[in-house]
Amino acid sequence: MSAVAGEVRALYLHIPFCERKCEYCDFTSVAGATGSEAYMDALCAEVRRLGERLGRLSLDTVFIGGGTPSLVDPGLLAGLVATVRTTFSVTVGAEVTMEANPSSVDAGRARVWRAAGVNRISLGVQSLEPDVLRFLGRVHDADRAIAAIAEVREAGFTSINCDLIYAVPGLGDVRWRRTVERVVAAGPTHISAYELTVEPGTPLHTQVRRGLVRPVEGVRSIRQHRIAVETLERAGYGQYEVSNFALPGEECRHNLVYWHNGYYAAAGVGAHGHLPAAAAAAIGLEVDPGAVSVRYWHGRGIAAYGRAVAEGNLPVAGSEPVGPGMREQERVMLGLRLREGVRLGPSGLDEARSLEGLGLVAIDGDRVRATVRGEAVLNQVTLRLVGDRAA
Ligand code: SF4
Repeated sequence: MSAVAGEVRALYLHIPFCERKCEYCDFTSVAGATGSEAYMDALCAEVRRLGERLGRLSLDTVFIGGGTPSLVDPGLLAGLVATVRTTFSVTVGAEVTMEANPSSVDAGRARVWRAAGVNRISLGVQSLEPDVLRFLGRVHDADRAIAAIAEVREAGFTSINCDLIYAVPGLGDVRWRRTVERVVAAGPTHISAYELTVEPGTPLHTQVRRGLVRPVEGVRSIRQHRIAVETLERAGYGQYEVSNFALPGEECRHNLVYWHNGYYAAAGVGAHGHLPAAAAAAIGLEVDPGAVSVRYWHGRGIAAYGRAVAEGNLPVAGSEPVGPGMREQERVMLGLRLREGVRLGPSGLDEARSLEGLGLVAIDGDRVRATVRGEAVLNQVTLRLVGDRAA
């Protein structure tokens, strides 16, 4: 067993194929599923290689994200999950999530995913309003989204997330509330509600730069976030992270690893991982002696990824050592977004009290979390709380 086996208990796998590229998307993804068979072979090969280098990790969570994993042949997906299970020790009761888009869901495919051992589906619903779906460049309509929720449930999934997006130009508060209410009525166990962000390099960014689209003002965005919080909490979904809401016990354990600043291995084009420094050498990375952990990432080109795997390499494109100060800064910044907050020592708590007076954080014992106002200036709040210990 490797030195890191007990510390790394989460695995992220990336599948980059989508039906078409959405207007706002800066994830590693391409339009069409051409080459998906060869890609899935390469991904399985990388998973096995990761197992050889890191040892037989015990995994509590596996997250298959994208892209649109539901688009690839379900048999290939089942093969990927089987490879993970033979390479690593997936613990009894582990959470195995797969992302899916409504347009590539049907009950038959969902049954194959379920039989393969996937036990949580995250659906990219985003909106139920036709003009908003069109604006975002999504390929499904509201009926397909609602039907997809029913189909995965029919296939035996009891943990179902729906992703939603607010602060979309043209989406008023009344229609946003109606979307949230209709999705709640469809009965998912988890809802993520994200603000639309304009990422450089996306078609949406170009439209904004040309003055063709005006982004939604901050006040409206904050109001729509508030609407989501109120509507979802009234319906019994606890807000356990700024953008994430769950019925009791349905919080996403994999994402909690990220927010608790935990470790996770990663495979697939564009995938990012975070490992203890002691594991760096195993995956071929050199880190400074003072580093406590290492963040690393894969390149975004699918062809180059396939070549690197075929040559017998782990296709890691870059890495960044994380020293103790940076690790503390990351812990605080991520933890501030959680409802449970982040634990701080005496000097951090002193600073937190002055930020509480400004309405930027809330304190409960030795735990501190950002308020909605604080969330808008999270970097500055973090720097105040961590101070020069991050230097
Ligand atoms: S479905 Fe998701 S990953 Fe694919 S293009 Fe749209 S936003 Fe990007």
